Amino acid sequence: MVSTYIPKTLEEALIIRKETGARPLSGGTDLMVQYRRGIGVTPKFPWPIMIVSNLKELIGINETPDGSLCIGSATTSSEIAASPLVPWHVREASSRMGAISLRNLATIGGNIGNASPKGDLPATLILLDASVVLASVEGERTVLLDDFIYGAKKTLLQDDEIITKIIIPKPARPFTYRWYRKIGTRRANAITKLSLSAAITIDEKGVITDFRASSGAAGPKIARNKALEATLIGKNVEDIPSLLPSFLADYDKIISPHAMPEYRRTSTKRMLEYFLTEVSKRPSGEIIE
Ligand SMILES: Cc1cc2nc3c(=O)[nH]c(=O)nc-3n(C[C@H](O)[C@H](O)[C@H](O)COP(=O)(O)OP(=O)(O)OC[C@H]3O[C@@H](n4cnc5c(N)ncnc54)[C@H](O)[C@@H]3O)c2cc1C
Repeated sequence: MVSTYIPKTLEEALIIRKETGARPLSGGTDLMVQYRRGIGVTPKFPWPIMIVSNLKELIGINETPDGSLCIGSATTSSEIAASPLVPWHVREASSRMGAISLRNLATIGGNIGNASPKGDLPATLILLDASVVLASVEGERTVLLDDFIYGAKKTLLQDDEIITKIIIPKPARPFTYRWYRKIGTRRANAITKLSLSAAITIDEKGVITDFRASSGAAGPKIARNKALEATLIGKNVEDIPSLLPSFLADYDKIISPHAMPEYRRTSTKRMLEYFLTEVSKRPSGEIIE
């Protein structure tokens, strides 16, 4: 029979993780489904399990002295969606995950730990240059989320580590325009088929000072390419229409969808084209929907 541990403190959890290799289980909405055996039958896990969702050290949302936002890994999607402290993209993505009952259980740490290219929170967190804090009995390390998830279901998590926090840095200037679109089979309660998160900052002269875009479910990992984004930085917003064709051709090279590649390529580029075209038409900042 597989052991189940329910530590009361993070310190205890890290010792259990080190000594037994127990797998963290937070909301269980991925793990319980992946290892299900049938209705009413307890899932059969191949390793010991450690329930981390009740650890106080992993729950909550707060601002740090440098203005960054710190979200505990066991914070649920419902809590994130309801917090005014959380950046807009992450709140939007949280509020569209599954149904309310799922959002009350599903955690940000579990969404990252699951490392699915369809995961809604990593796509927005990578857009915002978020990092994960990983703890073990040896200490802590902080890794950029875009590096931490290096492939479909692949992360840099070591066998003795737990994700404790997610840190979202404050952008140098507030975004002028921001956009998030999730395409699913239905408008609600659907796994993402494709998503695009984007943001742009424009100065008073119309010069683009920041531009970012991240694509979910368009490849084995969330697609974001800072070198390509930089090709728009320093350009005037009025020049967007003339820059778009070559920009979209280059964007096509950074996405590598496996299933339904034509649909995913075309839809991703259309979303990006829509966002950037709308930006070029608008005089003042607002959410583009
Ligand atoms: C019906 C249904 C609908 C869904 N809809 C969506 C959706 O719309 N969007 C979406 O993105 N996802 C969706 N999911 C997937 C799932 O709900 C999310 O990925 C969720 O965020 C997982 O969180 P959890 O706390 O339940 O993770 P768990 O199942 O507890 O864990 C998932 C993985 O993360 C690891 N893990 C958990 N916590 C930690 C930690 N602190 N440190 C290290 N590793 C950890 C676990 O070991 C496991 O590998 C859906 C799932 C179902 C069943």
